[in-house]
Amino acid sequence: MTEHTTDVLIVGAGPVGLALAIDLGLRSVRCIVVEQHERVGLKPRAKLTNVRSRELLRRWGLAEALRRASPLPPDYPANIVFATRLNGYTLARFEDAFYCARTRSDLYSEPGQWVPQYTLEEVLRQHAARLSGVQIRFDCRLERIAQDGTGVSAEVEDVKTGARSTLRAQYLVGADGARSTVRALIGIGMEGDGALAPNLNMVFRAPALAGLHDKGPAVMYWMVNRELPAYLGPLDRDGLWFLIAPRLPGGVDPGGGDAREVVHRSCGLRFDLEVVHVDPWTAHRLIAERYGIGRVFLAGDACHLHPPSGGHGMNMGIADAADLGWKLAATLQGWGGPHLLGTYEIERKPQHRRVIREAVENYELVGDRLARDGIEQPGAGGDRVRKEVGELILKGKAHEFRSLGVVLGGCYRDSPAIIPDGTAPPREQVTEYEPCAGPGCLAPHFWLQDGASLYDHFGPGFTLLASRDTPPTEISRLERAAAQRTVPLKVLTLADPRFSTLYQARTALVRPDQHVAWRGNQLPQDCLDLIDRARGGP
Ligand SMILES: Cc1cc2nc3c(=O)[nH]c(=O)nc-3n(C[C@H](O)[C@H](O)[C@H](O)COP(=O)(O)OP(=O)(O)OC[C@H]3O[C@@H](n4cnc5c(N)ncnc54)[C@H](O)[C@@H]3O)c2cc1C
Repeated sequence: MTEHTTDVLIVGAGPVGLALAIDLGLRSVRCIVVEQHERVGLKPRAKLTNVRSRELLRRWGLAEALRRASPLPPDYPANIVFATRLNGYTLARFEDAFYCARTRSDLYSEPGQWVPQYTLEEVLRQHAARLSGVQIRFDCRLERIAQDGTGVSAEVEDVKTGARSTLRAQYLVGADGARSTVRALIGIGMEGDGALAPNLNMVFRAPALAGLHDKGPAVMYWMVNRELPAYLGPLDRDGLWFLIAPRLPGGVDPGGGDAREVVHRSCGLRFDLEVVHVDPWTAHRLIAERYGIGRVFLAGDACHLHPPSGGHGMNMGIADAADLGWKLAATLQGWGGPHLLGTYEIERKPQHRRVIREAVENYELVGDRLARDGIEQPGAGGDRVRKEVGELILKGKAHEFRSLGVVLGGCYRDSPAIIPDGTAPPREQVTEYEPCAGPGCLAPHFWLQDGASLYDHFGPGFTLLASRDTPPTEISRLERAAAQRTVPLKVLTLADPRFSTLYQARTALVRPDQHVAWRGNQLPQDCLDLIDRARGGP
């Protein structure tokens, strides 16, 4: 038995564990990531890295690396086509789903990206491995944990040799997925509905397929028919495809034994294909009763599970990492207040509940609920059915493919680390996103005249955004208070008139995760109180 020490032990090297390791590593916090598998291969899960995750990747210096790693060409259109079959009738189209086009919008600093989860994970892993304070141990399984007043001891096993050792950390984060060992070890249950339905997810190689249909380039082709509704899309330019058959119809092997037939029957085409990976999964609507106990926290799928419709699961987990990362760093470095870590669950849980609601609604309207009798019939009768279904798709699926309000509109208004300003809460946003600088909201973004993103100028700690006419005495008052509590603070003076218009204030204090902690036209006399509240208590 060897005793090692680190600041944070992360269990799970999925996207969430790796994102957390990067956020901590960049904040000079030491961490060890243990992962029971090698975590290589083409397990075809997330394809969408959404706008918010890409903004975080930009902050971590990785947005360009992920863009370069994309197996699809950078200008490949993120279109979604609904058709009865690949060789059948087109029903509806969505152009530029998920805001992936590389046109600049003031609403965000990075567009979304359609890229396989395994590519994102590789980019994250390589980056994490380069950070001096981060260690990643594959084939290393967490078996047991015990916590006391000063830290957590974790017993881990080398999966290949069976050797056991103990790791000692100040905090432990279970980013260990749906079947979280950490969650079980600390005795936290999940609430909600498990096992909504069985689904099949697979990857296959079919180099000829792109040339066999006339539906144009798209990232997803939804096959809406009575026989075997499914959706599929290319993963690279060399003929690798994914297919998801949600809510499998009876008579189809949920274990993937009929994978080849599933592809052919849903597309309506016969072609050469090699099944590369089959991954049956179950849709759930579950949320953890608590997000941690003492020095142990849960993040990502370990604390929230929902259908993938809308592409939120991994992205929400990456945002969990961004929320927890700075709070752990602040606490370990002594500038976080005693209640800061307690705000993690208070802030994230309402976001999770809201996204779970959206995802479950999206999942309600998959192929079997869209197909109608006669949808594949030629002639006027069939045309009528197809028109009706096409209209239903355009109306019913807009939430799923254009949900910027969900992705960027989350607000931590009810957190004790957010200082209210008396303004009304922002309305709940789904498809449209209207930036709001109310305390708790994501800091409204715009491009600066030098071509940089406003966010590029934020510091790693708190940032005070101040219009040029803010009296220097006020700014120094806040700087003194921050220094007194060793809170890292950068002052960013903005001459751009869009700042005051968007923020509806002369000054705003932005947290390390780019959410507004406070805003106002005048910094308070007691800036120490402001800093104390924003850092989670005196
Ligand atoms: C078909 C499908 C499509 C999806 N599409 C999208 C999408 O487009 N966008 C999106 O955002 N999300 C999507 N998701 C969801 C996404 O895949 C998950 O939300 C994401 O993988 C969760 O990441 P995680 O890091 O929390 O957990 P995981 O990816 O599950 O990683 C957890 C890791 O912990 C390890 N582990 C577990 N126990 C231990 C232990 N005791 N010791 C050591 N290691 C351990 C596991 O081996 C695993 O590698 C999709 C999911 C499915 C099924």
